[in-house]
Amino acid sequence: MAMAHHAACDHDHDHHGVAGAALAAELAAAESRCAAADQRLTPPRRRVLELLLQAGQPVKAYDLISTFAVDGPPAKPPTIYRALDFLEKQGFAHRIESLNAYVACRKEADGHAAAFLICDCCGATREIEPKASAEIIAAGAAAGYALTGVTIEAHGLCGDCRG
Ligand SMILES: [Zn+2]
Ligand SMILES: [Zn+2]
Ligand SMILES: [Zn+2]
Repeated sequence: MAMAHHAACDHDHDHHGVAGAALAAELAAAESRCAAADQRLTPPRRRVLELLLQAGQPVKAYDLISTFAVDGPPAKPPTIYRALDFLEKQGFAHRIESLNAYVACRKEADGHAAAFLICDCCGATREIEPKASAEIIAAGAAAGYALTGVTIEAHGLCGDCRG
C-alpha cells in the first residue's frame, strides 16, 4: 500500500513495502527456508506472505481476505488464518495484538523475541531488537514461568508524523 492518507494529520503516508525483484527474492528465500525445515510454502501461504511483504506495514486479516485473489471471489477466511498461522510459526510473520494485525518478519530466525515501534497515526511499524526480553524471561523464570515468547508493542508517533 502506498500513500495512504490518514485524517488525523495533513501529510501523506508512504509505506515502503517490498516490490519487484526484491519481492521475488524474498519469496524465493522463504521457499528455500521452508524446504530446509521440511515445510511447504503452499500457494496460499506464499500469497499471504507476498501481501504482507508488499504492504510493508501491519495488515488486518480481513484485508488479506479481500486482496488475496487477484480476480475472482475473495479467499475463504480459514485459508487465510491457516496461512497466517503457518507464517507465524515459521517466523515469516508476527501478529501484533494491539492492532489485531499481522506484519511480515524479514529476519532469518524463527521464534525470536520481537519488539515493535508502532505509529498510531500512519500505522508505520518497525521491528527492533527487544533489549528487555532477556530480563523479562529471567523475571519469568524467577516467578516460575518457562516463557517461550516475548512480544513488545510500543505505541507513539513516527518521525514523519511528528514532523
Ligand atoms: Zn521478527
Ligand atoms: Zn506515522
Ligand atoms: Zn501521520
